Amino acid sequence: MIHDVIVVGAGFAGLSAALALRDDGLDVLVLEARGRVGGRVETQANSLGERYDSGGQFLCEDMPHVMALAKRHGKTLVTTPIDGSFTLQPEMSEEDSRALWDANVAIRDRMNSIDPADPAVGDLSVWDWLQRQPDDADAKSAFCSTIEGLWCQPIDAVPVWYLIDNDRRITNEVSELQYFLAETMHALAEDLAADLGDRIRLSVPVHEVRHDESGVTLMTAEGLHQARRVVIAAPPVVANRIVFSPALPAKLARALNAWRSGTVIKMRLRYARAFWRDQGRNGMVLWRDVHGLFVCDTSREDAHPALVVFIGGPSALRLRALGDAALRAEVFTRIAAALGPQILEPLDVAMRDWIDDPWSGGGYSDIVADFSAHDAEALLRAGTAPIHFASSELSPSFPGYVEGAIVSGRAAAAAVLETFERPVGRDPLA
Ligand SMILES: Cc1cc2nc3c(=O)[nH]c(=O)nc-3n(C[C@H](O)[C@H](O)[C@H](O)COP(=O)(O)OP(=O)(O)OC[C@H]3O[C@@H](n4cnc5c(N)ncnc54)[C@H](O)[C@@H]3O)c2cc1C
Repeated sequence: MIHDVIVVGAGFAGLSAALALRDDGLDVLVLEARGRVGGRVETQANSLGERYDSGGQFLCEDMPHVMALAKRHGKTLVTTPIDGSFTLQPEMSEEDSRALWDANVAIRDRMNSIDPADPAVGDLSVWDWLQRQPDDADAKSAFCSTIEGLWCQPIDAVPVWYLIDNDRRITNEVSELQYFLAETMHALAEDLAADLGDRIRLSVPVHEVRHDESGVTLMTAEGLHQARRVVIAAPPVVANRIVFSPALPAKLARALNAWRSGTVIKMRLRYARAFWRDQGRNGMVLWRDVHGLFVCDTSREDAHPALVVFIGGPSALRLRALGDAALRAEVFTRIAAALGPQILEPLDVAMRDWIDDPWSGGGYSDIVADFSAHDAEALLRAGTAPIHFASSELSPSFPGYVEGAIVSGRAAAAAVLETFERPVGRDPLA
């Protein structure tokens, strides 16, 4: 059987692409390497039997597509608790904390005011650029912690033009942590998958894409699948592991090779009570001396009191190298210094290490790490018929977020549709 389109990957990008193509009357098949859908959005069960989002979780009202999907599928928005004071570590007065936070934001605004195409920043990493700034060491350290936490990379590996271009597309004015879903973000991915029914095949990794003008043949362990078009809906670093026969055009191959995966570990600490609120704290903690370490409260209206811990960038690699017990000891000691010794008495500790994840890379998103690859994203978005690419990384809005994955998937579907002679699959006059 020759399908109209095969989508490789059932993350939000792949699911969104497949649904859009199906809605336009095309015959779509989704091949997913894992035994579940959702990609970087997944749930795990803790020792109390609760399912929680161990990958992508938060959304906000400035992200229209994921908000609309959550509403359409009857999901319950939980407001992330933020009442109370934010904690900066090492401890400083509230006034100094606020001043430091403002200085951190000012550095980011100054960076984003630079034209990413300005040749003066073409060769600079974020680290190089930061060294040339007049700010004091504490402000630079807070900035570094924020960037390494959000992009999950050492700042000397990130071209400053890339970060500016990427950050400018993250346009939320309310906090990106505004809401999470009581039913979990992963339940939303499962709803999308349910809409696709038996068009999704799980545990079918695609190893090779053979292509010519007439279409594609995808090689998998269970045999081959054929289609007129393919959408590779996987992050660029993972997509680059697929063999293309014949090889992709040199420019496109270079574009696919320009990316680097991040490193992140997400933990969820469950407590009997949200004790940090007794001291007027909102549970949110940012460290200046351990870059990329961040904690926030994900309790649900006093039910399931819990803190989520993110360790992003080089700190994730350093802590993981210590081994599980030492990693936990350091994280707990640090949070105890910030929020109190009760932190040492959790009901449950769950941890998801995304570093080396074989199917999604190790962070929230891949970044362009080739300083000269200014056109990598544009080339991948354009693809080369019959091969199209989608993934959150390629989105014109909210790259690196679930929102971006949905936008990218739908954009890839629109690009595929343009290549078909209309009407496809469906007779508009019927
Ligand atoms: C710990 C963590 C926390 C995050 N928190 C948030 C958050 O709070 N809010 C937010 O908006 N975003 C968050 N993100 C980012 C968000 O989850 C991702 O940007 C988004 O889910 C990416 O979707 P995608 O479809 O582009 O890629 P993916 O979700 O990675 O999907 C790609 C899919 O392709 C499959 N695949 C790959 N290769 C093959 C192959 N050869 N054959 C078949 N299948 C293949 C993979 O198994 C995967 O299912 C987080 C990410 C992580 C890791």
